[in-house]
Amino acid sequence: MAPDGKTRLPLAGNHPDGTHLRTALNLAAAGVPVLPLRHGKVPFGNCRACADTACGGRPNMKRAGTCQCLAPCHAWAAATTDPDVITSPEWTAAWRHAVAVAYHPGGAGLTVVDLDTPAAVAWAGETLPATRTVPTTRGEHWIYRGAMRSSNGVRPGVDIKSLMNYARWLGPGTGGMTVLPSVVRDLVVREDTTPAAGRVVSSVSARATWNPSVATGCRHTERFVRTGLERGLALVRARTESGAGSQAFGVARFLAMQHTQCPGPCGLDAIGEEIVSAAVSVGVPEAYARRAVTNGVETAGERAA
Ligand SMILES: [Zn+2]
Ligand SMILES: [Zn+2]
Ligand SMILES: [Zn+2]
Repeated sequence: MAPDGKTRLPLAGNHPDGTHLRTALNLAAAGVPVLPLRHGKVPFGNCRACADTACGGRPNMKRAGTCQCLAPCHAWAAATTDPDVITSPEWTAAWRHAVAVAYHPGGAGLTVVDLDTPAAVAWAGETLPATRTVPTTRGEHWIYRGAMRSSNGVRPGVDIKSLMNYARWLGPGTGGMTVLPSVVRDLVVREDTTPAAGRVVSSVSARATWNPSVATGCRHTERFVRTGLERGLALVRARTESGAGSQAFGVARFLAMQHTQCPGPCGLDAIGEEIVSAAVSVGVPEAYARRAVTNGVETAGERAA
C-alpha cells in the first residue's frame, strides 16, 4: 500500500497540465491518501460553508463531524484515495492551482520523521534505524512502516508526521522501509491533557514571570513583549482538549524569534516559564511542557537567551 521501490512515481513538478493530479492518482492507487497543497505549501483553505469548521468537521477528524463537502476542505482530513473525489470538479480546480502534492502518512500506515536541518539529519543517522529516505529542501524525510501520533518539534528540527497530519510528497525516495521502531515512538511523550485539578499549577506558576528587569539587553518595549506573551499564553490556555504541548512549542518558538536580533538578555527563561505554566494549567505534564518550550526556543535560535 505504501510507496514502494517498485512503483516509479513521478516527482511532483509545477506543471499546470495535471502533473500533480497524475502524481496524486498514482499515490491513491497505491493506497496513499492525498491532498493538494497551494502556494506556501499549505492545504487549501476551507470553503465558505466549512469556514472555522462551521460544518462540524470531517468524520475522520478528532471530533467526528458530518461534513460531506466536495472541496478539499479541512486540511489533512480531506486526504483521500478515492479517484472520483480526486478528479471531481472541485478538486480539479484545486489541482490547477496546486504547487505540490501532500499525503496523509497515518492514513497509509506510515510515519514520516521530518528532519529539517543537516544537524537533525546527522542526529537521525546516529540514532534511528535506517529506512526509506527522501531528500527535502533542507533535510530529509525518514519514512517508517507503522502509524503513530504526530508531534512537532520533538527535538530541534524534528517533526513526527503520521496520524492527523500531512507531509509533502517529494518522490518515492530510496531504501527499504523499516517497521516503526520504539526509539521513534518514544520521541513523542504521551501528552495527557486531562486537567490536573490545580495540583501542579501552583508549583510552576509561583516561579519566574517576565518583567523588564530580567531583559536588560532587549530592544523591545515592555508593552511589546508583554502583549505578545499574553497572546501566546492565551493560545496555549485555549487548548483545553488537546495540542497544548505543540502550541507551547509554537508559542515559544514564535516569541523567541522576536529576540534573535536583540543583544540580550531578553528574559527568555522567564518567558519560557510562563509558557510552561500555561501548558501545565491545561493538563500538560510539566516535563513534557518544559521540553516543548526548550525545543521551541532552541529552534528559534539561541542568540537572545
Ligand atoms: Zn468545504
Ligand atoms: Zn466541512
Ligand atoms: Zn529582546
